Parts: sequence; C-alpha cells; structure tokens
Amino acid sequence: LHHYEFNQKDLRICVAVRKRPLNKRELAKKDNDVITIPNRDHCLVHVPKSKVDLTKYLDNQMFKFDYTFDEKASTELVYHYTAAPLIDTIFSGGNATVFAYGQTGSGKTFTMGGDLSSAKTDYSHGVYAQTARDIFHRLSQPQYRSSIEIFVTFYEIYCGKVFDLLNNKKRLRVLEDQKGLVQVCDRKEQQVKSVQDVLNIIQNGMSIRTSGTTAANSNSSRSHAVLQIILKSSTPISIHSNVSSSSTRYNNNNNNNNHNNPAVPRRIMKEIGKMSLIDLAGSERGKDTASGDRLQRMEGSEINKSLLALKECIRALGRGDGSHVPFRGSTLTKVLRDSFIGEKSKVCMIAMVSPTHSDVENTMNTLRYADRVK
Ligand code: ADP
Ligand code: MG
Repeated sequence: LHHYEFNQKDLRICVAVRKRPLNKRELAKKDNDVITIPNRDHCLVHVPKSKVDLTKYLDNQMFKFDYTFDEKASTELVYHYTAAPLIDTIFSGGNATVFAYGQTGSGKTFTMGGDLSSAKTDYSHGVYAQTARDIFHRLSQPQYRSSIEIFVTFYEIYCGKVFDLLNNKKRLRVLEDQKGLVQVCDRKEQQVKSVQDVLNIIQNGMSIRTSGTTAANSNSSRSHAVLQIILKSSTPISIHSNVSSSSTRYNNNNNNNNHNNPAVPRRIMKEIGKMSLIDLAGSERGKDTASGDRLQRMEGSEINKSLLALKECIRALGRGDGSHVPFRGSTLTKVLRDSFIGEKSKVCMIAMVSPTHSDVENTMNTLRYADRVK
C-alpha cells in the first residue's frame, strides 16, 4: 500500500475516482489514454486536439476529489479508503452506502463484485466480499460474540421496478407509510453465518441478474443492483415481554417456529446498522434518449431520473442541516431513503472512468457528476 499511503479522512460524503487500465481491444485500436492521476486526489483529463471537432475539449481539465486511484491501484486499495472506513459506521448504529457510478464498461462491477471477465470468476477481491470479510472479522471479536446477526438482501431496480435477486427475480412492491417510512415488501432477507454464505448469494444473484439477456447491451447495465448487509442484535426475551418499541419487531423470517411453546424464549431482532452496496446502471445516456427504440428511451430516462435524484439526495445529506431530502424522485432513492437520513448516515461514491479518448465525453460527464455530489 505504501505507494499510496495517505491520511484517511473522516468524511460524511466521500467521493473517489477510479481509472481502469486500457483493455486489449483499446490497445489494439491505439485508442489514446487521456486520463492522468497526477497525485492522490486529482484527476486530469487531457484531450489531444481533435481534428474532427476543434470546438470540443480543447483544454486540459483538472478535477479534485477526496481520493483518486489510477489503473495500477488494486481493488483492495480502493476498498481500504472508500468502503472500509464505513464498517465503523454500521457497528455504531448508522447506515453506510457505497455507490459505484460510471458508464458501462468503466469497472463498476469489477470494483463491487470482482473479476468476472474470465471463465474462472473471482469474487474475493470485490468490495462486496471485502466488506463481508471485515464485518465477520469484527464479529469474531469478543465484545460482539453471538449478540449480532447478519442478514443480506439483494435486489435490482430496472425501469423503476424492483426485482428480488434472492428470489428468482420476483417483482417487489415499494410502499411508503404515513410517516414516510419506505418498505420493499416481501423481499427475501437471508441470514448469513460466514463470508462464504455472502459470496454464494452474490454469485447466484449476479448470475440471474445477467442471464437471459441476448442483446449486446445487457439488462445488467440498465439496472441498479442493491446489496444490503444488515446488522441486527438479537435479544432473547420472554414471551410476555413488552416489545412495542417502534424500532423493534419480531424476526419472522426464520427459526421462529417455536411460538407455540412458551417455554422457549422468542427472540426479537433490532436493526443496528446497514451497509448498502450499489452497482449503479450505466450513466451513459445520450444514445438512448436521442434515438433508440421506445424501450431504450424509457430505460434511459428512468436511469437519468434516478441518477439526478441520487445526486440531490446525497447533496441534501451533505448539507446536514436537516433540509428536505427529495428521496421520492425515483425508486432508487426511495428504497435507499434511510441512507440519506439520520445523523450517522455516511455515503461514499466511487466514480469509475475509462481511460480512452473515445470515451472522453462520458468520462467528463462522470467527473462533473461526481464533482457536484459534494
Ligand atoms: P461496468 O460494470 O462498469 O459496466 P465492468 O466492471 O464490467 O464495467 O468492467 C468492464 C471490463 O473491464 C471487464 O472485463 C472488467 O474485468 C474490466 N475491468 C474493469 N476495471 C478493471 C480494472 N481496474 N482492472 C482490470 N480490469 C478491469
Ligand atoms: Mg456492470
């Protein structure tokens, strides 16, 4: 890590940029690398003067973020400065959320899920796996032993609709009560006992997310994938206890088939904190909204709407003055309402960029978006 070692910042909203390496195809085409990461928190876009359109991108543009990672940075390093600091947040009763933002092909799934490019898929380096590893590592410490249980939900949002990746893509309804509390109804919440349990869920969920697509533009790039790792404390209670507190509820998911037997204490589960890891839909939109068929236009405008709403919600959290959080602007922000509300909420955005000249327009859009989140 030493090449990169620098002070970790304690941030409520952290914005990082990760540049991926040129791939074989881009190298073969001699597509230029136009992105330089000159130091730990700057990103420079330098575009060779285009012979085709001299009015565009004549200047080098410098952006500043909390952290910037070049193509040599490992996902471990990215994790260390982005998601890892949020483990504390969820153990101390807060909600933490990590977003992977960027155009299709920029490295969102690589960063969150791991390397799935070869036949031998490797989930172990992704942010999902590293987060699970850190959580279980912390749970093995004496002060937590047996008092905290871990649950996982995994679903995707496509065209404003929610589908359960833990339950054969079952369509899920999103309801909001009078208090503004949002619930994703009937979503499957699976208890996990080990890192391997989490990896199995991810592997299975990601395979149903991408399968069944024939077009080159797979659905997975048009949908947001939401993985939530939820910490709950379980307290054995007597059947006669008063459990009317609003923040507690019976764990009716599993292992509660003993309620006919008053001799066996029931357990209540109270949510302590939650880590949401979001692999966002591809942020490129131009083509879909301008041309494209009706479905593509609808997909494009839904993605557009949700990414705009997301930006506004993160900005509202950043103002931290309890100002209105416009979470109703999209399904994505609705289901993530808890992420933007509460003093202990923290958000991290990792903006992924492709290095090439041919992608520079999308890259500029990504960097501008990330720049405005803060
Ligand atoms: P996205 O999810 O944003 O559409 P992917 O994560 O699928 O993009 O990445 C596109 C391709 O680039 C994949 O083959 C992936 O393995 C590769 N890739 C992405 N980021 C990196 C990286 N940092 N190092 C090596 N390969 C990468
Ligand atoms: Mg992807």
